[in-house]
Amino acid sequence: MADHPRSGRRAIARPASLAAAVAAALLLGSVVLTRPASTGPAAPAGADRAPEGAGGDRAGAIPALEAAEGGRSLPSAPLRVALQAGHWKAAEAPDELRGLRNNGGTSGGGKAEWEVNLEIARLTGALLEEAGYAVDILPATVPEAYRADAFVAIHADGHNDSSVRGFRVGWPRRDATQRASEFAEVLAEAYGEATGIRRLPVATRRMRGYYAFRYTRYRHAIHPSTVGVIIETGFLTSPRDREVIVADQGRAAQGIFDGVTRFLGPATAETPAGPLPATQPAAVQ
Ligand SMILES: [Zn+2]
Repeated sequence: MADHPRSGRRAIARPASLAAAVAAALLLGSVVLTRPASTGPAAPAGADRAPEGAGGDRAGAIPALEAAEGGRSLPSAPLRVALQAGHWKAAEAPDELRGLRNNGGTSGGGKAEWEVNLEIARLTGALLEEAGYAVDILPATVPEAYRADAFVAIHADGHNDSSVRGFRVGWPRRDATQRASEFAEVLAEAYGEATGIRRLPVATRRMRGYYAFRYTRYRHAIHPSTVGVIIETGFLTSPRDREVIVADQGRAAQGIFDGVTRFLGPATAETPAGPLPATQPAAVQ
């Protein structure tokens, strides 16, 4: 289930002081010291390449970094995909997300939700890596101002009525990329095709307001340039949905993989795009 930290109204201290940022970076052995202090000190190594056309807030970056982030000119830099296993390591959530700590999500079929989410995330990640993408499997707590070319939060739903079933996909209510709703549609179509699970067309308010999307409120959230969606892969309380999300997780992973790759395109720029599909002559509309 999508969830809110219940500590939500607490004011958070931000931005981190530069001294704290430097101390944290040194502690982590990180060399990422060129980042503006307002974006926080930590993004995973390699995750700091903005998608094309995004990253208008990079004024503080040094020119070399700016050039490297300008697009896909780096020959060896594959697109990066984040797969968040919902509720995984929720007990380790930082203070600003303390409401997550006791939220293990739903359960069913002898599994806790986080286990199912993690299994599907790992299978999906293996498919993506095989196809040449860089992959981060993330726990419930997203690294501060996390950047990737695509972010998918993976969850499963629950209901008291075991006949309730279906999957759903949501995108952020506040989406600076303007691309998340398209990603959600592509992902939903692919996931439905691969799994046969029926789609519930309505994303819940909790999905639209998912904490990891809320970069204006939480430091541990995706960066505004990261295209993010959330998928409730099915109901863990439904025997029908469990046939896929517990007993045949490869199909769920294939669906997410198909959605991500259809949305992002090839993992690296030098991958040939392939022939264009045959088109009708323009005069014959
Ligand atoms: Zn959940």
